[in-house]
Amino acid sequence: MSDSLPDPQSRHHRQMILPGFGVAAQARLAGAHALVVGCGALGCAAIDLLARAGVGTLTLVDRDVVEVTNLQRQSLYVDADARAGAPKAEAAKRRVQAIDPALRVHACVEHLSSDNVEEFVNDCDVIIDGLDNYRTRYLLNDAAVKLGKAFVHAGAVAMRGTSMPILAGVVGALGIPRSDAPCLRCVFPEVPAPGEGETCDTAGVFGPAVAMVGAYAAGQAIKLLAGRADLLDVSFWSMELETNRMSRMSLAGAGRAECPCCGARQFEFLDAEIDGRCTVLCGRNAVQVRPASVAHLDLARLQLRLAPLGNFVITDGLLVGALQGSLELSVFPDGRAIVRGTTDPVIAQTTYDRCIGQ
Ligand SMILES: [Zn+2]
Repeated sequence: MSDSLPDPQSRHHRQMILPGFGVAAQARLAGAHALVVGCGALGCAAIDLLARAGVGTLTLVDRDVVEVTNLQRQSLYVDADARAGAPKAEAAKRRVQAIDPALRVHACVEHLSSDNVEEFVNDCDVIIDGLDNYRTRYLLNDAAVKLGKAFVHAGAVAMRGTSMPILAGVVGALGIPRSDAPCLRCVFPEVPAPGEGETCDTAGVFGPAVAMVGAYAAGQAIKLLAGRADLLDVSFWSMELETNRMSRMSLAGAGRAECPCCGARQFEFLDAEIDGRCTVLCGRNAVQVRPASVAHLDLARLQLRLAPLGNFVITDGLLVGALQGSLELSVFPDGRAIVRGTTDPVIAQTTYDRCIGQ
C-alpha cells in the first residue's frame, strides 16, 4: 500500500515513521474507538499510551473515586484529585484532554454489569481490561465474543502481571483459525472463587509492574487498531519483577470447541442476574453497595436528609461525607454508594440502608 510521508512536525510523527505505521495507520487510529474498563493503575498506563498514540475516541469506565493511596501507581491522577475525591473516569478524561484536545473522551462513572455491558462493547473497536476483579472480566469476555470484538486482557497484583489478546470474537476479520484464538474461558474455564486469588489488599502492588502490564496491553490494542494485527503477540504473556522473569505461552491450539462461551455460545455471565449488592473494593478498606433497583437520586435532597448524621458536601457530582465513628460515605446519582472504613459487606449494607434507604 502506498503511503504519503508524514509531516515531520506532526504530533504522531515518531510513531508514523515506524515500519508499517505510516499515514494510513495513523488515520485508522484516529478513527478508532477503544473502551477501557477500569481506570486504576492498569487503566491509567494504557489510557495514557492510547491517547498519545492518537486513538481518536476513548470510553473510560470506572465506578470509583481517586484516593491518596492510588497515587503511588495510578499515573493519570494528582494529589488534588485525591483530595477532591474526584471520580477516576472524570479525572482521567481531564488528563487525556490535556494531553490531546483533539481526542473524543467519554467518562462513565458507572458499575459495569450484565445490564449495561453490551451497550458499551457494541460501540467500540477494542476493549482493554483495567479491572481488579475476575467476574467483570468474564462478563467482558462474554460480551466480546457475542458482539465480535477484540478484548485485551490484563491483570496485575503484587510484583507480577499477565496479559493476553482475546480474539475469539474477531477470527473472521483477522483470518485466523478458531483453534488459535481462545477466549478467556478456553484458558481459564471458571472464575476463581472469592479468597482464592491475591488482592492488592493482601499482597500490595508494585507500580512499575502494573505500568508494564498496562503498557503491554496498550501496545496490543494499538497494533490491532492500526491494522497491524500481524504484529500481535498471540500468547499468554506474564512477567514477575520479584525474580525478574518473563514468559510467553503460545495460544496456538488453545481455543476449545467445547468452551461454553466461544464454543457453545452460551453467555452465562451476560445472562446472570446482577449478583449481590455489595462488592469489597480491592485495596481500599471500602465496600461498594449498589441499589436494589435502578435509582436516580436527588443528591441535594439527600444531603439535607443526611445533615443530622454528618457534614455532607456535593463535589464533582457526588455526595461525600463522614459519618460518626470512622465510616465515610460517597453516594453516586445512580444510587450506588462507597462505604469507606470497613471491608464488612454487612456493615456497608446496613450503613447504606440506614443513610439512603433500601
Ligand atoms: Zn472460549
